Amino acid sequence: MSYATINPYTGETLKTFPSASDQEVSAAIDRADAAFRAWREVPISARTAVLQKAADILRRDCDTYAKLLTLEMGKLFAEAKAEVDLCARIFEYYVNNAERLLRPEKLPVADPVEGEAMIVHDPLGVILAIEPWNFPYYQIARIIAPQLSVGNTILLKHASNVPQSAAAFERIMHEAGLPEGCFTKLYATRSQVEMIINDPRVHGVALTGSEDAGAIVAAQAGKALKKSTMELGGADAFVVLADADLEKTVKWAVFGRHWNGGQVCVSSKRMIIVDEVYDEFLARYRKGVAALKAGDPFDAETTLAPLSSQHAADEIRERIQQAVKQGAKAEEIGPSVPNQGAFVQPTILTDVNEDNPARYWEFFGPVSMLFRAKDEADAVRIANDSPFGLGGSVFTSNPKHGAEVARKISTGMVFVNHPTKVEADLPFGGIKRSGYGRELLGLGLKEFVNHKLIDVV
Ligand code: NAP
Repeated sequence: MSYATINPYTGETLKTFPSASDQEVSAAIDRADAAFRAWREVPISARTAVLQKAADILRRDCDTYAKLLTLEMGKLFAEAKAEVDLCARIFEYYVNNAERLLRPEKLPVADPVEGEAMIVHDPLGVILAIEPWNFPYYQIARIIAPQLSVGNTILLKHASNVPQSAAAFERIMHEAGLPEGCFTKLYATRSQVEMIINDPRVHGVALTGSEDAGAIVAAQAGKALKKSTMELGGADAFVVLADADLEKTVKWAVFGRHWNGGQVCVSSKRMIIVDEVYDEFLARYRKGVAALKAGDPFDAETTLAPLSSQHAADEIRERIQQAVKQGAKAEEIGPSVPNQGAFVQPTILTDVNEDNPARYWEFFGPVSMLFRAKDEADAVRIANDSPFGLGGSVFTSNPKHGAEVARKISTGMVFVNHPTKVEADLPFGGIKRSGYGRELLGLGLKEFVNHKLIDVV
């Protein structure tokens, strides 16, 4: 495994980086542990002041940082700038809320004469974060903002195709005044990841990535008796009820499936449309997808980005073929995507039956699976017929009824009249094979803490 920046639009290898040596990893753990002892004693207000400074730096140099994202993983420049701003907002969420969320909680003990009991939220120590390339900065902000607020320190193993984004974020935190050792990126190998998890000074691991990586790292953490959180893949249902406003719904469907090149864990990957409006939805959806413009992600006219790598594009094409071999129909949509760049032709898959393994896969790119549901109950059944349980959405002109349908969908997040959203002030996480634990808000803040009871008699 080697770390390299390869521009997915041009195919050019821009920079390579050697993997860390075992000595470097060991020294980084030493520093993170030493930093923890000091950082945990710093008042929360001073800890979050660093986050405010980082937010200011991100906004000040938004274009510079955004450019790196587009170069390393190919996302549209406008989306890259939005990601930088989202990170600043996540930091500010904790600036504004961490102190309140971490207040000790007094317990209503039955006999007050017996004394007072409370729960305090103490940091645990060094936490390992393993992150994917699809939102290179957001994934870092999502873990370090709460963990630094609570007083933990972090070692980051980022995806091997975004080494410069990882380094840029480390520089931002340094410039913001974060003490040495509180946040360190490591170009670690997989065996070094295991070595870090096994180190007694490391107290937890947070992974965002595929099911395969999640299963391996969760097992390593379990064996070492360390707490873990797993933010894994998803195949969000996009349920369309008969009374939905089709014009708006189709716009959201095209966006929900294709933003970030279709490479979002909460992309709207499975469109489930009730029979009455299926044909009209499909006709409008085809048109909407055909209007996407694939091209240079730096060009403001481009609306469909390349995939993150040629390998990712080859893999998804192979998966489409496998789906078709097992009985699905594949329809390529729109003008041909450019030859240059890691593009995949937008594709609609229909007739993906229950005996077709592809029905249960996550397509990480511009591939939409469409299902015709007999009625609302059938739509909910199809939505829940998935190994994943991350996000989902319901489209209807009756939002109250939409919320009732949302209650029946077995996922961690459901939105009515919007594809699953990513916001600084909403929690994030799933169930089933999408993993466990939550990031952001108070839930993320308290994933790696000691909820310590203090009872004074
Ligand atoms: P991935 O291959 O699992 O990689 C994610 C991270 O895990 C990378 O840093 C990777 O390092 C590392 N990794 C992989 N195998 C490992 C192992 N055996 N030991 C230690 N580290 C290992 O996932 P990806 O292809 O980059 O990302 C796409 C997946 O992430 C999709 O399934 C997507 O749905 C999911 N995702 C989930 C969320 C969420 O919040 N639920 C958010 C975004 C993405 P290398 O790059 O060095 O291999």
